[in-house]
Amino acid sequence: SIEEVVDREEDLEPRAPIVTVMGHVDHGKTSLLDYIREENVIAGESGGITQHIGAYGVTLESGQKITFLDTPGHEAFTAMRARGAQVTDIAIIVIAADDDIMPQTKEAINHAQAAGVPIVFAINKIDKPTANPDKIKEKLAAMNLLIEDWGGKIQSHDISAKTGIGVNELLEKVLLEAEILDLKANPNKPAVGTTVEAYLDKGRGYVSTVLVQGGTLRVGDYVLSGKHHGKVKAMHDERGKNIKMAGPSTPISILGLDGAPTAGDKFNVFEDEKEAKQIAAKRTQLLREQSVRTQRH
Ligand code: GDP
Repeated sequence: SIEEVVDREEDLEPRAPIVTVMGHVDHGKTSLLDYIREENVIAGESGGITQHIGAYGVTLESGQKITFLDTPGHEAFTAMRARGAQVTDIAIIVIAADDDIMPQTKEAINHAQAAGVPIVFAINKIDKPTANPDKIKEKLAAMNLLIEDWGGKIQSHDISAKTGIGVNELLEKVLLEAEILDLKANPNKPAVGTTVEAYLDKGRGYVSTVLVQGGTLRVGDYVLSGKHHGKVKAMHDERGKNIKMAGPSTPISILGLDGAPTAGDKFNVFEDEKEAKQIAAKRTQLLREQSVRTQRH
């Protein structure tokens, strides 16, 4: 088994919140993620976000950072949780102000609450003449979800993912929520984290995006995720830039694994390549035995 090192309080440093966007289909999850991705160009960086790697980081005018999982919807959220991965710190739940609290809105709320992840509501499409954000808030209140303006504790902001109205303020509220969570990690240890997505690229081989949750990942590290392993040959950020090291809350795409781990598989760094290979072989063996057992049933 892989030992989890318990961090000492004095080794912990603040880290950016990791945010998932959920909500009913067509309520504007993709539009919101696209808007934030396109609008945010880090000061001093030459370009905006150019690569889809499954997650991206933005820096607000205040200098504070937020990491977004770039897979809208709760399928990814629940798939990761099913593998024991708790990646999300805060959930933005998008609700179209010209619609209603829909089944997938309720599901998203339930998933976030079951995971103990705080919710920030984004009441979207307020640019539409038919938008009625108050009706949405009333319905939320009826479900015992009282937002701040209504005397409750849940953050909410009216936005338009199309025009961008309110999006900055929404992100400030996400940061307020993050402040309460007091998110910290130890950057000075071998990296641990979760695979967000992975695929085979014809030219480059297996490419996986990992989210570093603790420690620092470096080119040359020997990584094991699920049943796949390998030495990190190169790392790129969402701007396509070559990166040598990545600390907590940083999403990074890596080259060098011998296969594609499943989204939600944890990753660890090994000093000893042999040990990583042994664990990978053991996991492959276990999976084989499990599939034989299921076939017999
Ligand atoms: P998703 O299924 O939740 O990812 O929703 P999308 O982002 O794909 O949006 C569904 C539709 O609503 C698209 O046609 C968007 O252009 C539109 N849409 C999303 N946000 C807004 C908004 O703030 N205002 C308006 N008018 N349309 C929006």
